[in-house]
Amino acid sequence: MSLIKRKRVLLLGLVYLCFSLFAIASDDLSSKDFERGLFKEPFQVYQQLLLQTPDKLNKDAYLWWLLRKAQAEHLLYLYDEFEVSINNALNYIDETTPLLIQSRFNLFQGVVYRNKGEYNKALEYLASALEQAKRGGYEAPYIQAKLENAFTQGVAELFEVSLTDMQEAYVKAYGLNDQFLIAFINETYGAIYGYMFDYDKSIQYYSKALESYEQLGYKAHIAEAVYGLATTYRYWKKYDLAITYFERYREISTYTPNEEISFYAAYGLGMTLAEKGSCDKALEVIDLALAKKGVIDYNSELLKNKAICLIQLDRVEEAENALNKANRLFESMPDLMGTTWQLETLKIASQIAKSKKEYELSYQLLDEYYQKYTEVLLKNSTDRLFKVRADMELKRQDVEKSLALQRNKIESLKEESLEHKHTQQQYIVIFLLMIIVVIITVIVIQRRNNNKMQLLAITDPLSGLYNRRYIFNYLDKTLAGMSAQKGALSVMLIDIDNFKEINDKYGHPTGDYVIQKIAEIGQEILRTGDVMSRIGGEEFLCVLPRATEQQAKEVAERLLKAIAEFQFQYKNNDPIHLTVSIGISSFSESSQSYDIIYSQADKALYQAKAKGKNCIVLH
Ligand code: GH3
Ligand code: MG
Ligand code: MG
Repeated sequence: MSLIKRKRVLLLGLVYLCFSLFAIASDDLSSKDFERGLFKEPFQVYQQLLLQTPDKLNKDAYLWWLLRKAQAEHLLYLYDEFEVSINNALNYIDETTPLLIQSRFNLFQGVVYRNKGEYNKALEYLASALEQAKRGGYEAPYIQAKLENAFTQGVAELFEVSLTDMQEAYVKAYGLNDQFLIAFINETYGAIYGYMFDYDKSIQYYSKALESYEQLGYKAHIAEAVYGLATTYRYWKKYDLAITYFERYREISTYTPNEEISFYAAYGLGMTLAEKGSCDKALEVIDLALAKKGVIDYNSELLKNKAICLIQLDRVEEAENALNKANRLFESMPDLMGTTWQLETLKIASQIAKSKKEYELSYQLLDEYYQKYTEVLLKNSTDRLFKVRADMELKRQDVEKSLALQRNKIESLKEESLEHKHTQQQYIVIFLLMIIVVIITVIVIQRRNNNKMQLLAITDPLSGLYNRRYIFNYLDKTLAGMSAQKGALSVMLIDIDNFKEINDKYGHPTGDYVIQKIAEIGQEILRTGDVMSRIGGEEFLCVLPRATEQQAKEVAERLLKAIAEFQFQYKNNDPIHLTVSIGISSFSESSQSYDIIYSQADKALYQAKAKGKNCIVLH
C-alpha cells in the first residue's frame, strides 16, 4: 500500500457517483438534474437532503435518498457518515432492488475497500457493480465501474490491465458523448500515468479534466483535478508549480464547511516545501497540518519531513522528537511496518546520529536502512514482476485468441475471394468468347455482303454476265499487261438482229428470255479464260485473251451457227429462230487501247448489219 496514493484514492472515490442518467419518473432524487445540482452546490443539497428523510416503507425511494446522501457525504469529505450511509443501505437491499441501485452501492463498497488498501475485495465489489450495470443496460454506470476498476488496478500497479480497461471506458464514453464522463476518464488517466511516473502525460490529462470540470462548474471535481495536478508536480519535483496548485486547492476547497479538508492542502504544501528545501516555511505549514484532524499515515509522513527539516536547521533535539512521534505512529499501523515509508525513519535516525557526531551509530543505522530497503525493493520487484507476468499472460491469451479469430476470418475471406475470382474468370472467358463469336459473325456477314455487293456491282442482273463497267475495266487492265510486239487479244461485239421485232411480236418477257439464252449459249461456246459481258440492251462484248483474229473468227462462227440453229421457246409459246451479227477487232500495234479496240469492233458490227445481218465482219 502506498501512503501517497491513499489521498488520491479517497478523493477519487467521490467522483464515481456522478452518473445518474436514468431519471426514475416522478422521483426527483433519481433525476440527472438533481445530481447536477448536487455537484454544483453539494453542501446546500446535502442540507436539504437531511431535512427530508423519506418513509422507510417505500424501500426504493429510501435507497435513492441514501444514495444521494452518501454521494453528498463523499463530495464533502464526510467519510465516516459516508460509510454509515452505505451500511444503512445494505439492510434494505435485496434481489428485488433495482439493478441500478444495487450496482451503485456495490461500487461504493468497492471504493470503501480500496480506500482501506484492500484491493482484492475492492475489485470483487467493482466486478459485481460492473455485472449489474451491464445486465441492466446502464451504460454510464458501466463505464464508471470500468473506470473505478481501472483506477484500482492502477493503484495496485497492474498498469497493463488498467490501461486496457481505460481504453474500453474511453471508447464507450466517447460514444455517449458525455462531457462529464470524458472529464472523469481524463482525470483517471492523469492519476494512473502519475503512478507510472509518466508525469508529462499525467499533467496533460489532469489539465483536460480540470478544463471540463470548470465549464460544468462542479466544485468538488475542480478541487479534485487541482489536487491531482499539485501532487503530480510535487512528484515531478516541480515544486513551485506544485505549491501554486496546492494553494489554489486550499482556496477552492472551501466549498465544503468541513474543516478537515484543509488538512490536505496543508499536507501537500508542507511536504512540498520540505522537499524543496524551504525548511522555515515548511515547518510552519507542517505544524499547521499536524494541528488539524488529519489522516494518521499522512501525519507520519509530515513528521518525517519535519524531522529532516529540523536536522537541516541544526535543531537536532526537536528533530529527534518529531522522529519519535513518527515512529510511534508507525507502530500503531502494523500494515505499514517494514514498508519503505517506515524504513525511511532509520535513514533519518542515522542523520540525527551523524548530527550528534555518533558516527558509529549513524553508520549502523544507515547500513540497516539500506539492507532492509534493498530487501523490500527486491520483494516488491518480485511481486511486481509476478503481477506483470500474469497480466501479460492474460493479455497474450487475449491477443492469441483474437489473432486466431482474425486468421480464420482471413482464411475464409481468402477462399471466398478465390472462388469469386474463379467464377469471375469463367465469366470473363465466356464473355470474351461471346464477343469473339459476335465479331466473327459480324465479319463473315460483312464479308458476304461485301462480296455480294462487289458481285452486284460488276454483274448484269438479267443475264448474270459481267456488266459494261467491269468488261471495259478488265479489257483495259489486260491490255496494259501486254507488250506491243508480242501477244494476242481479240474482242467480239455481238448484237441480236431485229430484236425490236421480237419484243414487239412476243412481248418484253420473251425478249428478256432471249437475252438470257444467248448469254448461256455464248458462255458454252467460249473457251475458259474468255469473258463475256452484256454492255447494253441486246449487245454483248466478249474479250478473248490470247486469241488471234482468226481464232476469234472461228469462235464467232461457232456462235453464229449455234444461235441460228437454236430454238428459242419461252414458256409454251411457239419456238422462235433468230440470228446475231458479230464485229471482231484484235490487238495490234495501231490498236492497243480498249476504246480503240471497242470502236473498231463496233464499226465491224455496223458493217455486218449493213451486209445483211447474221454474219461476221473482221475489222
Ligand atoms: P438491228 O437488227 O438493226 O439490231 O435491229 P434491232 O431491232 O435489234 O434494233 P435496235 O438494236 O435499235 O433495237 C434494240 C431493241 O432492244 C430496242 C429495245 O426495246 C430492246 N431492248 C433493249 N434492252 C432490252 C431488254 O433488256 N429486254 C428486252 N426485252 N428488250 C430490250
Ligand atoms: Mg442493238
Ligand atoms: Mg439488234
